[in-house]
Amino acid sequence: MRLNVFLVAFGQNQSFTYDESNYAIKTKNGTRNIMQSTENDDMLIVAVCLAAIVPKVFHYAVPQDAELVPGQFVLVPFGRKKLYGVIWEKLRPWQENDPPKDKLKSVEQFYDIPPLSEENRKFVDWVSSYVMSPQGAVLKLVLSVPDALSPEKPVTGWQVSDKRPSRMTDARERVFAALLPGKTMRTGDLTEAASVSISTLTSLEKEGALIKSELPAGTLFDVPDPTYSRVQFSNEQHEAVNMLTDNIETRGFQCHLLDGVTGSGKTEVFFEVIAAALTNGKSALVLLPEIALTEQLLARFEDRFGCPPALWHSGLTASERRRTWRTVAEGKVKVMVAARSGLFLPWQDLGVIVVDEEHDPGFKQEEGVIYNARDMAVVRGRLADATVILSSATPSLESYVNARDGRYHLVKLPSRHGSAGMPDLSMIDMRIDPPARGQWLSPAMVSSMQDALDRGKQTLLFLNRRGYAPLTLCRNCGHRYACSDCDAWLVEHRSKNIMACHQCGSVRNVPDKCEECGEVDCLTACGPGVERVLEEVGHVFPDKKAAVLSSDMIGQTGELQSQLSLIQSGAIDIIIGTQIIAKGHHFPELGFAGVVDADLGLGNGDLRAAERTYQTLLQVSGRAGREASKGTAMLQSYMPDHPVLKALIAGERDIFLEREAEMRAQSEMPPFGRLAGLVLSGPDIAALNNFSRDLAALIPASDDVRVLGPAPAPIARIRNRYRLRFLIKAGKQAKIQQFIASWLAKTKTPSQIRVAIDIDPYNFL
Ligand code: ADP
Ligand code: ZN
Repeated sequence: MRLNVFLVAFGQNQSFTYDESNYAIKTKNGTRNIMQSTENDDMLIVAVCLAAIVPKVFHYAVPQDAELVPGQFVLVPFGRKKLYGVIWEKLRPWQENDPPKDKLKSVEQFYDIPPLSEENRKFVDWVSSYVMSPQGAVLKLVLSVPDALSPEKPVTGWQVSDKRPSRMTDARERVFAALLPGKTMRTGDLTEAASVSISTLTSLEKEGALIKSELPAGTLFDVPDPTYSRVQFSNEQHEAVNMLTDNIETRGFQCHLLDGVTGSGKTEVFFEVIAAALTNGKSALVLLPEIALTEQLLARFEDRFGCPPALWHSGLTASERRRTWRTVAEGKVKVMVAARSGLFLPWQDLGVIVVDEEHDPGFKQEEGVIYNARDMAVVRGRLADATVILSSATPSLESYVNARDGRYHLVKLPSRHGSAGMPDLSMIDMRIDPPARGQWLSPAMVSSMQDALDRGKQTLLFLNRRGYAPLTLCRNCGHRYACSDCDAWLVEHRSKNIMACHQCGSVRNVPDKCEECGEVDCLTACGPGVERVLEEVGHVFPDKKAAVLSSDMIGQTGELQSQLSLIQSGAIDIIIGTQIIAKGHHFPELGFAGVVDADLGLGNGDLRAAERTYQTLLQVSGRAGREASKGTAMLQSYMPDHPVLKALIAGERDIFLEREAEMRAQSEMPPFGRLAGLVLSGPDIAALNNFSRDLAALIPASDDVRVLGPAPAPIARIRNRYRLRFLIKAGKQAKIQQFIASWLAKTKTPSQIRVAIDIDPYNFL
């Protein structure tokens, strides 16, 4: 029997086939005695998928009396190492074409944790074939915290008994002050709260004044209460909730595009869908494009469900990751808010997957296993028979077309909740109303800011450029400061007195004389970054408080958070920010949003330049006037007649999307055709060129696939590795993976050279 999984994501008619026998062992209680099903053979074999970048599954011997099922987590010897893995196929007797019996190694350890379900294994297989990464590499995304396979050590809890100690000390007093009768505290919490050492506790225990007990580990996730606090939905919202919950009870797959303007209540609506999933005993996963967005969502979640959701992102501590992973594997996490990698957790009972800000390029993982979490969420939802909600105020063209053509179900929320209207959006023609020399804000922008500030409102300026200036040069010799390891200019960060490479992250101090000609005081900053706008704002509005928000802050614990709470409290009048402020954060007092350089994203020849610019600018302008009062938004542009900007000003989103769709259809670009990128990189440019020529000569003949290149990548060197690109362009029905596989199989990649395959590329650098 074969099982076809049809990919509705991107509307491609791509199907992958699984041999169901791989998954055929069904057990009642998760274990099965292999002795019952195998007859008179003396060696049993399992195929193990290793959580490692190895090309295939490997076979191991297992003891006759082992109780094994596919999906079980194991540790196996591999060369001189030991690797974690998962039993991938049902076990079977040794056969003639297996490796010789004396060569087969044995599985070393089995873990006492629920096996990785069939659905999860299918998901690994599916992603692996789609993105052309080995199964093991994808399984590594699943098995991201191998420590979690072993149970956490039980923690010790303490309670007071009826017996008083014979003698009291200050330290003992503090213990009884911290530990109230009837309460249980963990060792660490109690020693910290009472500032005593463990010996104080154990001596009290010896006297019988304290009772020590073992607490079950990992019970740190509260269960969200779907009825905790509900909002009164408008008719429009109510209708949306009805449509989105339609499939929850019947438990069939459905992918919805939740398309609603900023502030229309999309979040409230998908909270309600999550509540419905909980009521039906299912779990829910909310994917966000960046971790910086989680905080505000958490607070709102807690208001709605009475407790915070589980979290999954790169900022967790090792023990948080471990506990979270294990709790998911045990099927006990009910709602999680996660970065894209949360999709690969060993979920058991997913009823809803929400992809919030679905258009965001942050869902694309660009390193290692290159995948788009938005698209893979749809695949996962289909495998799980779950409801998938792609939510956005500015849907991606892919999702828009899928909804338009009926592959996704469209749910619209066209108006803002309550009395808030959309902001008035207007354009400043910088050719007519330019800023003063060396400045970046035009007089019209400044006066609108002044108006909003006079009304006691906050204002926001958007510029998607970190640092002070994108380029520094020497006025004396013309030398431009570039990274020594990358094909990129160094960006001055004046607040830290450094120049940084935004490709590799390397930094250096700003030199006091030119490194080329030795002249002092001759370095000039070219162009603005957010720090430079901050400087200008300081001159123009000297008595106002301004602050920069940028992704530079994400790594610094608490920095972004404290800035955000300053903004919330009204302590900041003017917010200057990069991409990070375009979405998510809700600034209720914002009366004006200004875009410093609306042309910035339009310049690059990227397939999605227009779409991206449209999305970002609409989101930024949507920041203004979210509560009762109407806001204003302005775009500064040197090309105000550009169709993207005109469509924005006219508020013709769907006309813009239709026109964009038509252009893509004509050129057979995604979503009407398929693309894949092949990036070759290596330390030696000559060897790289040779290899790319070899590859170019081996391009397979095909009617519906064309290969462009090789060409130097726009960033031709990163971290001292040179980069060349092929672009593979194919018809919508083309089997692009097969094409690439047969092409690459024709030659061997030299060891110094890496070939990265990027199916459905978003990044063309
Ligand atoms: P979106 O996610 O579409 O931007 P939100 O769900 O964040 O919209 O809603 C915007 C604001 O309006 C939030 O503060 C939200 O709590 C509020 N809101 C939306 N719908 C309702 C409602 N039916 N009742 C009360 N407040 C609502
Ligand atoms: Zn660099």
